[in-house]
Amino acid sequence: MTLTILRASLINFLLPNRCPGCDTFLTAGERLCPACEESALLLHDDYCHFCGKVFCICKRTTRHYDRVVVCSRYTDEPDDAAVRAVWALKNSYNTNFAYFAAGIIAERLKNSADYGSCDLITAVPIHRSKRRIRGYNQAEVIARALSRELGLPCRDDLLWKESSQTTQHSLSAVEREKNVSSFHSSHADLTGKRILLVDDVLTTGATLDRCAALLKMDGAAFVCAAAAATTNRRTEREKQDKPQS
Ligand SMILES: [Zn+2]
Ligand SMILES: [Zn+2]
Repeated sequence: MTLTILRASLINFLLPNRCPGCDTFLTAGERLCPACEESALLLHDDYCHFCGKVFCICKRTTRHYDRVVVCSRYTDEPDDAAVRAVWALKNSYNTNFAYFAAGIIAERLKNSADYGSCDLITAVPIHRSKRRIRGYNQAEVIARALSRELGLPCRDDLLWKESSQTTQHSLSAVEREKNVSSFHSSHADLTGKRILLVDDVLTTGATLDRCAALLKMDGAAFVCAAAAATTNRRTEREKQDKPQS
């Protein structure tokens, strides 16, 4: 038994490993149960590699990122495996979904010529007060796991977010576009760099677009966006139609 398996077994004993999609017990090293994995996972050819959507939106929107790689579908149904797994990632310290998604995303980046290579990885930031309360930035957990999988440096000093009273997820598409102005760059020299920009959920793409635009203003030559999950078109229509409270 290797040290890694021993340590995983010990952590599993002290803090039982549960599936973030359905709360069933898992063995050490498992990230999702087979049923949740099957219901959440999008196949490589199930989504557009330019906008990250199952139903391509490239014709009605232009974006600053060049490619998108995603792992799972996110339906917004309360019992959806990915919805529950993302909630667990943000609220209950169950980071299994981040590692599961990083594994899938890394495999896709390594095995497909669709995405091109990258020099470094960075995550969509959250405000420091939110990070202090949660203890971590969930997008950065995915980014750091990707850094290990791909052997690329992970930078957390390229972008920052000022405080905002609302969470991006609760906003309509129009409000999201306005809210993204709270993201800023640190003006690092990124001349010619090819960057993998990571977030947890791709909804309208406004957040990733703003962050990609900032990285390109700092000189980045190419930005590949990566998200653990992508919403479907029905979810986005509902958000646009739903009055915001
Ligand atoms: Zn499960
Ligand atoms: Zn598309």
